[in-house]
Amino acid sequence: MSRSVPTRGSILLLSVALVATLAPRPAPAAVTKSQVQAACADSDTQYQVYLDARKRFEEAALQYEQIRVEIDELEHAQEFATRVAANRRQEIADVERRIREQAIERYMQGGAANSELVFLAGSVDELITGQEFLSAASEADVGSLDDLLALRADLQRFQDELAERETRLREVEELRAQITAELEEVTNAEREAFGKLSADCKRLRRQYERELAAARAREAARRGSAAGGVPSGATPGFVCPFPGSSFIDTWGAPRSGGRTHKGTDIFGPWNANIIAVASGTVVTRVGGLGGYAIWLISDYGVAYYYAHLSGFNVKSGQRVEAGQVIGFNGNSGNARGGAPHVHFQLHPGGRGSAAVNPYPTLKRACG
Ligand SMILES: [Zn+2]
Repeated sequence: MSRSVPTRGSILLLSVALVATLAPRPAPAAVTKSQVQAACADSDTQYQVYLDARKRFEEAALQYEQIRVEIDELEHAQEFATRVAANRRQEIADVERRIREQAIERYMQGGAANSELVFLAGSVDELITGQEFLSAASEADVGSLDDLLALRADLQRFQDELAERETRLREVEELRAQITAELEEVTNAEREAFGKLSADCKRLRRQYERELAAARAREAARRGSAAGGVPSGATPGFVCPFPGSSFIDTWGAPRSGGRTHKGTDIFGPWNANIIAVASGTVVTRVGGLGGYAIWLISDYGVAYYYAHLSGFNVKSGQRVEAGQVIGFNGNSGNARGGAPHVHFQLHPGGRGSAAVNPYPTLKRACG
């Protein structure tokens, strides 16, 4: 029997072709949470383990953020207070010298009844608390004494503050060590759990997370915020800089000294390979907040900044190809003593231009 009625299959094919022709850029099918759950049902226990590890990583990363800011601020305050205390000590020494000179002068003028006072006094304290000096003291001398007492009180206050902050700094550093260990553990757990998921589950979960990130980025871009990053077309062929890493979106998070976070911190094993995200030229830098850092100026003009590396695998000025190992994960610069991670920045207009949030770009490339 031959009928010219189109079959179900051919109608479906036709409609697919029509949709493809009519819609110039079909949106990628959005993945729902329940679709991911269905795909992950075969490895359900493992999926729960993965979700738990991911959640623990996110919590630890946020805690790490806060602690880092507190340590930064404590260290800055300590540096400042140490400088002020040194100045006060110098001023105190100057005033003490002046008081001694005044006492000697008074002795020479025969003001002090006890002529040996000046020479016997072991310290300025003995001198100035001696009745002889005080009874003979002129207004200028008393002024010096007042200065001395004020300076000493000031120094004492700074020293108390220094000691208090030192105690807090040690506590927070201890906390940071714990969270660093926790981060290491949960990033490993997350990687391990993810590796055990079924292929379908992995694919859909990645797609789901990418779509979430993309939706957030579109929303931020709509508000005109740099948090939205750049669309994929701005970073052609972008390669994940740190495969197997873990990271969250911390764009704009507070930093010490009123700064805000201008990148993404990518956590992973110490000394792991760090990759060129694009072909271009590298410039290495050592020192300052970034520690061992690399600027990668891509052939298409976008500049990328990698900081806190443990070392380089390139020479400054060298040409690199996308995917090439350029350095190793570390905690140099102001990340010293903390969890190894790469601080990654994206500058769409080149090295001198403002940074935008690299998170959406990283999420697209790293999954
Ligand atoms: Zn950072």
